[in-house]
Amino acid sequence: MHIKDIMRSDSPTFSFEFFPPKTPAAAESLYQTIRELEDYLPHFVSVTYGAGGSTRELTHDLVERIKTTTQLNPIPHLTCVCHREEEIEPILRRYASSAIGNILALGGDPPRGLAYNKADDAFQHAEDLVKFIRSFNETGEHPDARGFGIGVAGFPEGHPATPNRLVEMDHLKAKVDAGADYIVTQLFFDNRDFYDFRERCELAGIRVPIIAGIMPITSMSGCKRIAELAAGARFPAKLLRALQRCETEPEMVARVGVHFALEQCHDLLDNHVCGIHFYTLNRSDATRTIFDSLGIPRRRQAHVATT
Ligand SMILES: Cc1cc2nc3c(=O)[nH]c(=O)nc-3n(C[C@H](O)[C@H](O)[C@H](O)COP(=O)(O)OP(=O)(O)OC[C@H]3O[C@@H](n4cnc5c(N)ncnc54)[C@H](O)[C@@H]3O)c2cc1C
Repeated sequence: MHIKDIMRSDSPTFSFEFFPPKTPAAAESLYQTIRELEDYLPHFVSVTYGAGGSTRELTHDLVERIKTTTQLNPIPHLTCVCHREEEIEPILRRYASSAIGNILALGGDPPRGLAYNKADDAFQHAEDLVKFIRSFNETGEHPDARGFGIGVAGFPEGHPATPNRLVEMDHLKAKVDAGADYIVTQLFFDNRDFYDFRERCELAGIRVPIIAGIMPITSMSGCKRIAELAAGARFPAKLLRALQRCETEPEMVARVGVHFALEQCHDLLDNHVCGIHFYTLNRSDATRTIFDSLGIPRRRQAHVATT
């Protein structure tokens, strides 16, 4: 289903993000998570994309498996890093033939532990990948006459590679003008950053829906990993104080993290967010707890009740 139809049919949207599992045990655990979250009938689920060849195949496989074996609407991530143009086209063809409706077009994180020269990438910025997907859309190969719906990333607290926030907004605007249909944000812990970002987008003339990325902290080590991965993420003192109070008790840490994310979600809904995207880290417990506490009926139950 094209993202425009998804956004038109229901708002706010709820969506979950998964990463492709690398081992059979991790795959088993992910499929269990997917089964548990399928009941919530999220508007879409997205699947991340790595920089290495084998992990990339895992993304394609997972996307197709979700599409064929569940009721979920998978959105693959696709990145510029370590890709030549002639590699991207077959991927688009493959997704089009599987009737995948949308793609999240990203710059991508550079590979860890591998020699990498950005100048070798066919697409230097996500904007170029958006343009390429747009031109693919014009070939008419996709079963939807509009082609793929296209998402891009946004950074409420700014992207570390562009310290000049005015220039960074120009880059975001360029991605949208190139053909992006929606924006999903990097995780953030202070909603004021999101609201300010949303306003700055509006001032810049960006009119596409902006979906808020939320990641509940479930462990102290996870918190440190987030700080590393989402480089530049601000951890408000209020959150750190609450975590510090219970840092030696893992169960309490998870409760604090989930409670904090739940409060963020309530506040986002009160402030008319277009959608909330949960970074699940392939686990369902935190997301389910939050979802169940938001007072939103499981969409599948609601769906069944009305059919
Ligand atoms: C929702 C979400 C999902 C993600 N999923 C993945 C994933 O699956 N795999 C993965 O590897 N990474 C993923 N990332 C991380 C992301 O790819 C990195 O943070 C990357 O550094 C930025 O991606 P981008 O799409 O914003 O890139 P870009 O839009 O290319 O921007 C990257 C940097 O370049 C600057 N820039 C953009 N255009 C220009 C220009 N024309 N000239 C000069 N500078 C420019 C931007 O301001 C920014 O600083 C995700 C991030 C988010 C928020």
